[in-house]
Amino acid sequence: MQNRRTILLGLASMPIILSAAGAARAAAPAPATLTTSAGDLVIHPVAHASLALISGAHVLYLDPAKEDFSGLPAPTAILFTHAHGDHFDADALGKMAGSAKIVVTEEVFGKLPEALKAQAIVMKNGDKGDVDGIPVTAVPAYNTTADRLKYHPKGVGNGYVLSFGDKQVYVAGDTEDTPEMRALTGIDVAFLPMNLPYTMTVEQAADAVKSFRPGIVYPYHSRGSDTQTFKDLVGDAAEVRLVDWYANAAA
Ligand code: ZN
Ligand code: ZN
Repeated sequence: MQNRRTILLGLASMPIILSAAGAARAAAPAPATLTTSAGDLVIHPVAHASLALISGAHVLYLDPAKEDFSGLPAPTAILFTHAHGDHFDADALGKMAGSAKIVVTEEVFGKLPEALKAQAIVMKNGDKGDVDGIPVTAVPAYNTTADRLKYHPKGVGNGYVLSFGDKQVYVAGDTEDTPEMRALTGIDVAFLPMNLPYTMTVEQAADAVKSFRPGIVYPYHSRGSDTQTFKDLVGDAAEVRLVDWYANAAA
């Protein structure tokens, strides 16, 4: 329980971000701080499937697409789970990339602006690597239900497990409750999608949580879904954090 208390204290003491660009982020979900053996990890939900993870000098953007990251520091790494427009936008990436490492699937690599290919790292399902000093594992992300297979065929998309000191964060991407997800262990924070027809139901997501037991779960990519029902179904199997991903969403 010490852990959870530390997290709550971190939340309470989190300063409100006020800067010239901060005003634009006023309606964005509040950040949260997770204590790790490598120092504080600050989690910034941004919108829909987009978030930022900041640990010291490491600034990671996940699936930034067209969402508004103004007010956050420039990225040192950008990770894309797959090429769908709500996750990847080549023009937006060109404006924000700078010299950041860019982690991509093979499909996304093919859509990168030529000028950015030299700073890209392709990860296939199951690959392990080190990105900007952060250990990363690519977890398969795909549909498993017959009438949804066309949205995310197996082998195309990645989720990512990122290690920050002794804590592991899983950003699932667009996926259902695959055997690979259910077999994960030691996940401290999980971002799980739940919306039909593209990903999974709140019932599937809750069942997966009871299988792989992350400490904290953020429903994301959840437009139109009853995330309160997800929270109720999870019960005390995990700490479920409901944030409004759609106050500032781009589309
Ligand atoms: Zn998708
Ligand atoms: Zn999506």
